[in-house]
Amino acid sequence: MDRLFRGIMRYRNTERRGMVAQFEKVKNNPVPKAVFFTCMDSRMIPSRFTQTNVGDMFIVRNAGNVIPHSHHFNDEVTMNEPAALELGCVVNDIRHIIICGHSDCKAMNLLYKLKDQSFSSKTNRQLSPLRAWLCNHAHSSLDKFNQLELCGTTRPLMFQSEMPLKKFVAYIDPEKRWSVEDRLSQVNTLEQLANVASYNFLRRRLETHQLHVHALWFDIYTGDIYYFSRQNKRFVEINEATVDKLSEEVRRDGNGEGSNSEAFPLVRSVLSS
Ligand SMILES: [Zn+2]
Repeated sequence: MDRLFRGIMRYRNTERRGMVAQFEKVKNNPVPKAVFFTCMDSRMIPSRFTQTNVGDMFIVRNAGNVIPHSHHFNDEVTMNEPAALELGCVVNDIRHIIICGHSDCKAMNLLYKLKDQSFSSKTNRQLSPLRAWLCNHAHSSLDKFNQLELCGTTRPLMFQSEMPLKKFVAYIDPEKRWSVEDRLSQVNTLEQLANVASYNFLRRRLETHQLHVHALWFDIYTGDIYYFSRQNKRFVEINEATVDKLSEEVRRDGNGEGSNSEAFPLVRSVLSS
């Protein structure tokens, strides 16, 4: 706490005045551009690596950047993540959802171990809320990852897209650069698109291209950020050589019928930051 107190005192004397001015500006004209789902890992600081500012994004964090599927919720039983989707995409009419996974994810490392049935037994799940969370809400990622292990990384995997009847193809780590747990993290990041699609209150927005879903992946070891390119069917590093093409892909995908092309600056800023 002492370190936090010293940090707060530094903030009071440096950034506070500027931030309050930004709060005032945003208060009268709030136009957040994205709902950003990422892991709670202390190394993930999305506003820093996307160079975004006050008022730009709603950020939702949990263990493993998981968005639970809607079939887990009946009547009024719900969780933070769907409520955040509604607050962001319906109440505030935000047009982009970004899901961002990362390498060396402790939640994904644990999910990988949950392949072992004794490790994920009912008794162990009752003792560990984290195991229960991952077993309940990330088992589809593990199922998809098992397909990858069976087929090998040079074969494509089929994922359900954010549109209920559409699928997309992804090659996960065809060059075998990553650990198995990192591959699971990439699979898990893409698997969240189907979970977003499971919410009826988003369906019309998704079907009419008013709402777009993007997947990012952050490499903790190098600081590089990858964008899942549906055109390239894989995660592509965002760098000087790729950023223009990726921006073009985002623009083109967003300029379909019924879309709001005005809603892209944040994704482009993520891509070019
Ligand atoms: Zn993590």
